[in-house]
Amino acid sequence: MALAEFAVIERYFLRRNYHNSSIKLGIGDDCALLNIPKNQTLTISTDTLVEGVHFSSQCTAEDLGHKLLAVNLSDLASMGAKPLAVTLALTLPKIDPNWLQSFSDGFFKLADHYAIDLIGGDTTSGPLTLTAQVFGLVPRGVALRRSTASPKQLIYLTGYLGNAGLGLKATQGYQQTSVTSALHHLHRPQPRVETGLAILHYASACIDVSDGLAADLNHILQSSQVGAIIDWGKLPLATEVKAYISHTGDWTMPLIAGDDYELCFTVSPALQADLEAILGKHKLNFSLIGKIEAKRGLRLQKDGVVSDFNHKGFEHFSELK
Ligand code: ADP
Ligand code: MG
Repeated sequence: MALAEFAVIERYFLRRNYHNSSIKLGIGDDCALLNIPKNQTLTISTDTLVEGVHFSSQCTAEDLGHKLLAVNLSDLASMGAKPLAVTLALTLPKIDPNWLQSFSDGFFKLADHYAIDLIGGDTTSGPLTLTAQVFGLVPRGVALRRSTASPKQLIYLTGYLGNAGLGLKATQGYQQTSVTSALHHLHRPQPRVETGLAILHYASACIDVSDGLAADLNHILQSSQVGAIIDWGKLPLATEVKAYISHTGDWTMPLIAGDDYELCFTVSPALQADLEAILGKHKLNFSLIGKIEAKRGLRLQKDGVVSDFNHKGFEHFSELK
């Protein structure tokens, strides 16, 4: 490793003290060392952001630092895991001190909020590509999966749908909205870590909505070999998203646009009251949007009519299908 790379790590990424006592060795050796507490399962996920694919040059470095960690934490949240540590692989076209400072500010603000430690990574030169790998802990045997939904379970969603999609529309020229607010949703997603932890003992299946509700709920349906019906009237839509729909007629946007990073989860009717009580107690926002059915496929009830909903969200390499 060249000196410049070491200086970058030392200046922008090395912290002397770690939040978590299970980190026995962090940045500085060939590997980090973590002790896993007894009766816990290590939960691991990786996500990459590539310039031009996942973000445009309009996105600030601080936004990127936040978003890279947020999208990874969202995966931990969807399994009900408590975040512990993260590694960071950066491919940078050049060493730009201002960019690195802003990026690490955005990254560490969120990392410190959840007391997560950066324990290693890799720094290389090339086209701007940002990868994080997160490590979380979940009590043994209870992690929330995609494959455990069953008929009659209720389908819940956190937060709002389509806010990030509206942000993307704003970057593509849609102007009849508050661009600042729309872009904030796109660039600063809030991972639903607290909700993931709160629903752990009540929810059955769970997924985070990164590629659009229809696409991600479909992953639950396929893994669990079930179907679902969603009630259009119950979808949580912000005023700006409703205004976008009435201006453009594009009502499918909130169902197919990605990047909202809300959690979609299923709950048995017997646990509904307990689940709603725990979410209410922690002041966590949720909506009941539909129901799991034995009949396969995704259906939408809209204006009194039930129809199949086959619109796709975003998929890389979708031309291969
Ligand atoms: P090696 O050559 O043995 O793979 P490196 O020289 O790439 O190790 O990295 C030196 C140390 O710095 C390692 O502990 C590595 O995990 C850490 N590191 C490298 N890049 C980053 C980064 N972007 N963020 C955090 N830690 C990093
Ligand atoms: Mg290396």
